[in-house]
Amino acid sequence: MRELIEIRKDEIIPDQTNALALQGICPGTRVSANILKLFDRGLEIFAKEARPVGMVAAISGNDFDFVYAGEGRNDTNTPVAEIFRKADHLALFAVTVGQTLHDKINELFVAKDFALGSMLDSVASVGVEKAADLLEIFFRDGLQREFGVDGNIAVMRYSPGYCGWHVSGQRKLFDYLKPEEVGITLRPSYLMEPLKSASGVIIAGSPEIHVFADTYACCSQCESHSCRQRISRLVNSTGASGSGGQPAAME
Ligand code: SF4
Repeated sequence: MRELIEIRKDEIIPDQTNALALQGICPGTRVSANILKLFDRGLEIFAKEARPVGMVAAISGNDFDFVYAGEGRNDTNTPVAEIFRKADHLALFAVTVGQTLHDKINELFVAKDFALGSMLDSVASVGVEKAADLLEIFFRDGLQREFGVDGNIAVMRYSPGYCGWHVSGQRKLFDYLKPEEVGITLRPSYLMEPLKSASGVIIAGSPEIHVFADTYACCSQCESHSCRQRISRLVNSTGASGSGGQPAAME
C-alpha cells in the first residue's frame, strides 16, 4: 500500500479546545469574547487557505528497522524501538495543511497582527494533528479491507524528534516515503516545509503492544506526556493492559 490521500478540509476542522490549549488556555477556562473572535477568524482563514494532503506507505519490519536507525542518533531505549517489533503492520506517513496557510501566518506576523497570527498558527497545528489522525484511520481501514485484520487492531503514530527518535531520522524516512510528491520537503535542519506538516510511522497491532510506562530516558525531559492521553483513550476503549503496565500518571 502506497497512497496519496486528498483530505477534505471539513474532515479536519480544528477544535477550539485544542487550539486554545496551544495558546496556553486550559480546558474549562472562561475565555474572553475577543479570544473567541480570534479563534473564529482563525477557522475562517483555515477554511480558505488550508490545502490538506497526505501520504501513507506500508513498510516491512526489516525496512523500518533500517529507516528507524536513521543516522545513529536515537536514544538507546525508546518506545518505538520496542513497539514496532511487536507490530503486525507498519506504515510511514506524511501530511500537511499546505504552504498557503503557512504563508498567511507569516503575513500576519509581518503585519504585526501577532494575536491573529499566533491563533492561526495554533489552529493550523491542530489541523495537522487531525489530518494525521485521519491517516491513522485510513491505514487501519485499509488493513481491514486488504487483510481482513481484526476490528480491534489498534494504531498509534510516532514522529522523529519525539520519544527518543532523533529528528535526524527524518532523512531516511523521507528517502523511503518520498513525500515530495505531495509537496512536503525536508530542510537541511530536518524541519519540514511547509512547516505545518507531520511525518512518522503508524504502528498497528493488538492494543496491548501500545501500552507502556513513561519511564524511558526521553520521558524525563518531556513536557507534554501526550502518550498518557493516547494510551488512556486506548485502555478505556479496548480494556488493553500492556507489559509496561498501566501508566501510573494517566491523565
Ligand atoms: S512521556 Fe513523552 S517522551 Fe515519554 S513516551 Fe510519552 S510522549 Fe514520549
